[in-house]
Amino acid sequence: MNRRPILLLLMSAAVVCATVALAQDKGSVDPKPLPPLANLNDPKLGAKELFGRKVLPAAMRTRVIGFYAKGCIAGAEALPINGESWQVMRLSRNRNWAHPDLVALLKRLADKAHKDAGWPGILVGDMSQPRGGPMLTGHASHQVGLDADIWLTPMPNRQLSRNEREEMSAIMMVRADRLDIDPKAWTPNHLAVIRAAAQEPSVQRIFVNAAIKKALCREAKGDRNWLSKVRPMYGHDYHFHLRIKCPPGSSECESQPEPSADEGCSAGDLAYWFKDSTIHPKPPKVPPKPKPPMTLAQLPAACRQILAAPDVRQ
Ligand SMILES: [Zn+2]
Repeated sequence: MNRRPILLLLMSAAVVCATVALAQDKGSVDPKPLPPLANLNDPKLGAKELFGRKVLPAAMRTRVIGFYAKGCIAGAEALPINGESWQVMRLSRNRNWAHPDLVALLKRLADKAHKDAGWPGILVGDMSQPRGGPMLTGHASHQVGLDADIWLTPMPNRQLSRNEREEMSAIMMVRADRLDIDPKAWTPNHLAVIRAAAQEPSVQRIFVNAAIKKALCREAKGDRNWLSKVRPMYGHDYHFHLRIKCPPGSSECESQPEPSADEGCSAGDLAYWFKDSTIHPKPPKVPPKPKPPMTLAQLPAACRQILAAPDVRQ
């Protein structure tokens, strides 16, 4: 039996869906500790193996080093797992760390979602690891404490149990044909929460599924300037991804160009995302070679120092 076509299909699906599954990946209330590394000096060792084993931030002043998809952070702060208007999900991942500016922004946004958008609050997914850096699973970005995923599912009106935070699934916002939002799931309050996030001056980009961008374009009333920050991206059917600019004074943080000031709502802007070849991509003829993981040597040099620093005292 020829199993190759199935393998090809699975591999291409894995490439396209790498970010799709994130909000849905379940965790465990009793995660198994990672096995110790045999050879810390192996030059091929993925930096994710090292950063993924750090439980606490480095005892150093706050520093953002490198780029969203290639860097690390010292002095990250944890978003408390329960707030008046937020709860952190998938606690087993220990990814509720970020630059203090992003932590403050998430608290503010949670409050706005509660007061202005009529949600009890927000559910917060992955932020960064305690020292940032590449992760063992999921994201290419989220490495410098300036990215956060927020579920497109309102926080329930009660405190979720540890187990629910690992097991609960977010609500799928995109219609089965992927050409628009699911009207049974999408509400004006979703727009209000995304708008509140985009209107924060320090937010540089927000990533959502193209069907969600289309709905925002159709439904946004009044000031529409914020739409320019909301960019269509693969995945993001269940959550939106919020990215802030390099915080003031972070001279080692590598910034990203500002998105164009255009709303990005014209048929031409969205055409690519709704092409059949984008929605149903053909598997590649030659399966892509798995990329070797990013090594510590490929990260900015200061990340070695941050990795080697003692834990912050709790
Ligand atoms: Zn994300």
